[in-house]
Amino acid sequence: MKPFSAIILLLFMMATAQAQQAASSKKFTLVIHGGAGTILKKNMTPEKEQAYQLALNNALQAGYTILTKGGTALDAVEAAVRLMEDSPLFNAGKGAVFTNEGKNELDASIMDGKNLGAGAVASVTTIRNPITAARAVMEKSQHVMMVGSGAEKFAQQQGLELVDPSYFYTEERWQGLLKVRAQDPDSVALDHGNKSTSMLKQPGNRDDKYGTVGAVALDQHGNLAAATSTGGMTNKKFGRIGDAPIIGAGTYANNATCAVSCTGWGEFFIRLSVAKTVSDLIEYKGLSVQAATNDLIHKKVPALGGDGGLIAVDKSGNVAMPFNTEGMYRGYIKQDGKAVVQIYKE
Ligand code: ASP
Repeated sequence: MKPFSAIILLLFMMATAQAQQAASSKKFTLVIHGGAGTILKKNMTPEKEQAYQLALNNALQAGYTILTKGGTALDAVEAAVRLMEDSPLFNAGKGAVFTNEGKNELDASIMDGKNLGAGAVASVTTIRNPITAARAVMEKSQHVMMVGSGAEKFAQQQGLELVDPSYFYTEERWQGLLKVRAQDPDSVALDHGNKSTSMLKQPGNRDDKYGTVGAVALDQHGNLAAATSTGGMTNKKFGRIGDAPIIGAGTYANNATCAVSCTGWGEFFIRLSVAKTVSDLIEYKGLSVQAATNDLIHKKVPALGGDGGLIAVDKSGNVAMPFNTEGMYRGYIKQDGKAVVQIYKE
């Protein structure tokens, strides 16, 4: 190599190294959840607890690897959620709960805080990673939400991985359905066409359903993104769709405020537009992300009779992870690379 070329190359390498250093000294944050519910230490074996901690750590690391290199919040939340969808531990993708009819019907949504782009799929039964399908709806279609066989056709056209519905079968979730169905007077009555009012109150089982997954992130460029994916609630009936795929209810992101992903009794999160309300409280009332999320999770949701939790990160990287249940699988990681994973009430 000629001396001149060598100098140019050296200068280029120095500039690249400097740029990388500048990039990695910028702030970023990733927060994840693996569902809120009756998660008690006394019901957990050390092996199971370790398995959850490992899965949550892996999801955090997947997002961290992207964010530390200057990657986007959108890529980070999708990667983290995909890993949890592929784990049988969570009620999303592979570990989805069963409907009253013994099927797995999956819901997911994603939102880009940079341009308020959003995508969602609902009631899909053959898409291995619904979060990637939600992203495809956002980026490759003119729509925000697609459901059922239409969403599956679109996913196929986009070259996404489709699986046989039996891929989603797990023995633990199946036993969960049998247990809940046995306690549900509506199961038999509804099968015979009798209407009962109790199903209007309880669409599924709140003790056997936790495990919805979600991620929110702030990247080095100041962009926020949110993603949520779920199998819904055990024993849900007849085309029920929860809050997870509804933009503004289970998922929301806006660079001007925050990114939010919810988990809990979806009917209440829909009725309160929880995720968008958190953003509104920050935007219009000037509340901190902590105060805004506490207002929803510790006041509004329980006042209406619902339960659950959420994760949020604001545009400065402040993290909130409130829940009003016994526990919530959750964790976060920032630019220092120290992963924090928690399960129970602290
Ligand atoms: N929010 C989900 C739903 O209602 C369930 C959950 O997060 O536990 O479908």
